[in-house]
Parts: sequence; C-alpha cells; structure tokens
Amino acid sequence: MTVNRELFDHVMVPNYAPSSVIPVRGEGSRVWDQQGREFIDFAGGIAVNCLGHCHPALVGALKEQGEKLWHLSNVMTNEPALRLAKKMVDATFAEKVYFANSGAEANEAALKLARRFALDQFGAEKSQIIAFNKGFHGRTFFTVTVGGQAAYSDGFGPKPGDIVHCDYNDLAAFEALISDKTCAVMMEPLQGEGGIVSPTDEFAQGVRDLCTKHNALLIFDEVQTGVGRTGNLYAYQGLNVVPDILTTAKALGGGFPIGAMITTTEIAQHLKVGTHGSTYGGNPLACAVAEAAFDTVNTPEVLAGVTAKAALFNQLLTEINNKYHVFSEIRGQGLLIGAVVSEQYKGRAKEFLVAGTEHGLMSLVAGADVVRFTPSLVIPEADIREGMARFEKAVASVVSA
Ligand SMILES: *Cc1c(COP(=O)(O)O)cnc(C)c1O
Repeated sequence: MTVNRELFDHVMVPNYAPSSVIPVRGEGSRVWDQQGREFIDFAGGIAVNCLGHCHPALVGALKEQGEKLWHLSNVMTNEPALRLAKKMVDATFAEKVYFANSGAEANEAALKLARRFALDQFGAEKSQIIAFNKGFHGRTFFTVTVGGQAAYSDGFGPKPGDIVHCDYNDLAAFEALISDKTCAVMMEPLQGEGGIVSPTDEFAQGVRDLCTKHNALLIFDEVQTGVGRTGNLYAYQGLNVVPDILTTAKALGGGFPIGAMITTTEIAQHLKVGTHGSTYGGNPLACAVAEAAFDTVNTPEVLAGVTAKAALFNQLLTEINNKYHVFSEIRGQGLLIGAVVSEQYKGRAKEFLVAGTEHGLMSLVAGADVVRFTPSLVIPEADIREGMARFEKAVASVVSA
C-alpha cells in the first residue's frame, strides 16, 4: 500500500486540509517525515505536546501502564485516575475532578453541570450562558454554539438555546448582558484560537465580580492555556481570578487524549449518579500518561523554564521583525505566542506557516492574521535558536515572493 497525502483525499472525510508532509517520528522538539526531512516543532501538536515528542517520562508511563491495565469503564474506578485527580485537586482551587477524553467533552460537562446547578438552585429561568466573540470551546454542538464563531456553528440546524455573546475585554458590554437569569459565563483566560488575546486585569476581575453578584458560575476554559503553557500551572493563577469550574485537556495528556473538568464540592454535587458520563473518560492508560505529564510539568524548574524560554522566543522573533517588519505586534503569555501580521500581510498568516514548513519549521496560525507558536515547554535553547533561524528564512521568502 502506498501511504501518501493522496490517500487522504481518497479515504478521509474532507473536513481537514492537511499539509503534504507526513511525519513518522518525533523526538523532543524535532520531527522527521516519510522522506527523512527534519523539522523543528514550534507547533507542539497545537499546544498538546507540552514535553515534546516521546518524552522518556511519558513513554515510561505508557509502557508501564500498557502492560498492566488499559481500560475498565466507570463501573470501577482505578488507581491512575485517583492519583491524577488527587494531584490536580492539590495543585488548584478545585476539590472534585471529572475526566473526559478531549477539551470539547470537558467543556460539555462544564456547561451541563452549570445548567444543572442553576436549575437545582434557582429554577428553570436561570439558563442563560454568556460567552465571548472569537472564543473557542470545541466542536460538539453545545460547545461550538457557546464558541464565538458562527462559521463553526451555522449550518447544522437548530442550536442549543439561551446562549449569547459579547466582545472579549468589553466589560461594559458584558455588564449590560449579565443578569440574574445568567447561569454561567464561559471564557478563555487568554483567547487562543481567536488570535492570542489576553484579558486585561480589569476585565478578568470585572467578569468575576459580576458573576458573583448575579450567582452565575464562571467557567474558565483552560484547554489551551492549562498545564504550564502560560508559565503558571493554570492561567487563572497568574490572573489572580479564581473560576468556579475549570476545564483542561490538550497538554494534560502530553499527546495522549484526555480532558478534565474540575470544580468545587458544592458545585460538583449537582452531577449526581447517572446525570453524566463517558465510556473512556478516566481510563487507566490515559490517566497514567497524564499523571506523568502533570508531575513533570508541575515543578518550579519547568514552569520557570517556560518564562525564560518565552523571553528568548520573543527576543528572537522581535529581531526577525526588526529586519523584515512583517508583524505589527508580538503578544501572548509564556509559550503561547502570537505574531500579528502587519497591514500589508493581512489575511495571509498562513503563508508564513507554509513557508516555515518548506524551511523545516512547524508553526501554527490563530485565525487569518496571527502566526502562532506553541512549542514544547521543555524545548532546548538550541532548538529555539535553530527554529528561529529557519523561521527567518521563511519570513524572507514570504517578503521576497
Ligand atoms: C482546542 C480547544 C478546545 C477543544 O479541545 P478538543 O480536544 O479539540 O475537543 C476547547 N477549548 C479551547 C480553548 C481550545 O483551545
């Protein structure tokens, strides 16, 4: 069988448009394709591979658990899930954990819990969910409707109801929307897919205060920002704003699919036996790998390393930009970095990604105007420098095209 990019068009549902490169192997922040071409990975599987590829701690946990026990269903609990949950509770505001398999599923659980909590505590009138334009919360029908991009939710028939949106960082607009009928507010404590947009301190604190005032639950979607990405274990810890419910996925498994919703005991008790569930959620294999990832990331060395590596990243990006003037702003937090293309390149961020691939560099975009970098949290300095040298060549090729 010839396994190449053409086969994709023959056998895969056409909802993705993948690159012609087919990687076959990865180690640390380097990846090799079918032809043996090497790439530096500044994409990290979209903020998932927090420890790069095939990190020994993760491979070790996978092998060890892989020879013990993979799956049981939630008819029985298991040791890795209990250990991981205990560590997450110890490291955060939360007291209870629900495991899922992805970010969307963690958010689905959070939204259902918020609706159930409001129904139990306040009655059926309190069902409104407020979220933010350009926000992203996953691709199930509930989460895509809560997400702030109609392009992702239109065209599938009637949507889940009582969901409204306003602009991120517009506290006045938010204050005008929220009321005692608001059940929950879902927000990213730094918009990822929406273009790497940080909240102002005033906005984050204002949203928290208004949620408290109106008995609305504040749900932080930390699927992209969580597990060390911003230099804190969770971004809320850097913002000094504590949510009522938090969702985490992507980096949580370091590349193995897992998601989680975490919350307080008071709120959690409304998901009574039988109200929600998942066949795979919290299976021992995923939890064992995630436990190893969590243990490795949640250390002062790795978290401080994120801040140091981010400083180097920003410095080298700025140097490239001082030469070529292709970006109007370099922004983000920790190793969640966005380079906003200048007016001349508006709508063309993808060209930098494509040119990067041609020069042996994997990167991402966040919308049409932002080149996004979400490398491994433990990427060696030499790989940052080499990757940036390749990115400079990519930028030069876009500029001279
Ligand atoms: C990626 C992402 C999701 C969706 O996660 P999946 O694992 O793809 O379902 C949800 N919220 C945010 C903020 C994300 O970045």
